[in-house]
Amino acid sequence: MDHFLYRDGALCAEDVRLEDIAAQVGTPFYVYSSATLTRHFKLFDDALEGTDHLVCFAMKSNSNQAVIKLLGDLGAGMDVVSGGEYARARAAGVPGERIVFSGIGKTREEMRTALNSGIRQFNVESEPELAALNEVALSLGVTAPITIRVNPDVDAKTHAKIATGKSENKFGIPISRAREVYTHAAGLKGLDVIGIDVHIGSQLTDLAPFEAAYLKVADLTKTLRADGHNIRRLDLGGGLGIPYERSNSAPPLPTEYGALIKRTVGDLGCEIEIEPGRLISGNAGLMVSRVIYVKEGEDRKFLILDAAMNDLIRPAMYDAWHDIDPVIEAAPGAERATYDVVGPVCESGDTFAKGRAMAPLSAGDLVAFRSAGAYGAVMSSEYNSRPLIPEVLVMGDQFAVIRPRPTYEEMINRDTIPAWL
Ligand SMILES: *Cc1c(COP(=O)(O)O)cnc(C)c1O
Repeated sequence: MDHFLYRDGALCAEDVRLEDIAAQVGTPFYVYSSATLTRHFKLFDDALEGTDHLVCFAMKSNSNQAVIKLLGDLGAGMDVVSGGEYARARAAGVPGERIVFSGIGKTREEMRTALNSGIRQFNVESEPELAALNEVALSLGVTAPITIRVNPDVDAKTHAKIATGKSENKFGIPISRAREVYTHAAGLKGLDVIGIDVHIGSQLTDLAPFEAAYLKVADLTKTLRADGHNIRRLDLGGGLGIPYERSNSAPPLPTEYGALIKRTVGDLGCEIEIEPGRLISGNAGLMVSRVIYVKEGEDRKFLILDAAMNDLIRPAMYDAWHDIDPVIEAAPGAERATYDVVGPVCESGDTFAKGRAMAPLSAGDLVAFRSAGAYGAVMSSEYNSRPLIPEVLVMGDQFAVIRPRPTYEEMINRDTIPAWL
């Protein structure tokens, strides 16, 4: 459920008309609903009620400072995958003890910063990383709390680019080698081995792969405890999917996911962490764009928008579907038109949808891309020298620009011309 509904024929973000935002900030732009962000975080938090837990928002899905502050103030932890995300979490006021550091390529510099400024745990993904973290911790005279990410070799049945839990993927250590690696880690004086981490992929629309993975984690917990390791925390990753296409069946709810967690690992006495990103931020955001031209091709009509693949890359990168709705509702009974919806970038890949049946639209009309709050703004670029588009946050009848659109001058002045040129 989200808070983007039509009122008197005009699409609104909570109590604000999108037209009003467009008039003030220009198009295209991202807009987020604080009520939806809050609701989605609380769904997870409530689903794990009764267990010692922390919901860590996967910041890579949306790392705007205002979004992080909103979720952090609700008590969310953060899952970060870079020194930049760590810095963003701290800048938004999230304490180190609520930040977990994931990712296969942490540098020594990133480790040092997190150890110096406070970290809940590192999710370590390889033996060379264990060695590096041990070295850094010893050099600082501290011990680094760690889990080790195991790869459970389950098929998440999601898009190949976002599946991470098969043995062929680059993530974690094979679960078959876990005992050996844990024994090795336990011997490293700079590390405190506190738990197990697993994350099998993103946009999962079925609970079965989670169940398979978590049962393996439960078994491993018992085995490792028998080996003498004090396993007391399980990080179960993120990955629960969202409905991108209105006509598809709804993916499982956080409540069902929470029940699954309790059923599979709930009796181990471990503290539970989860790292949802998309399910918290995805349907909490829209991208709003204006139609520049309607172009009649030989056998099709193109809706040419002022947004492009550099602003929202998911369709080009993952063949992703986004529902695209008119901001002003079509008259009841209006005949639908079929469009290829494209952006102005000079690549055929700059196509948001092909042969999409939609309300008839004209130049100047506004459209809203649904489910664009996750992996939208964070993956955008200035390809074709199109300035990053603004982000807007709505709360009730208020809205604020939370990242302004750079001017051409600001964009250009980030480059420098050497004196010798
Ligand atoms: C991407 C990622 C997440 C979040 O995935 P979502 O599908 O957005 O919930 C969580 N944990 C790790 C380690 C990730 O790489």
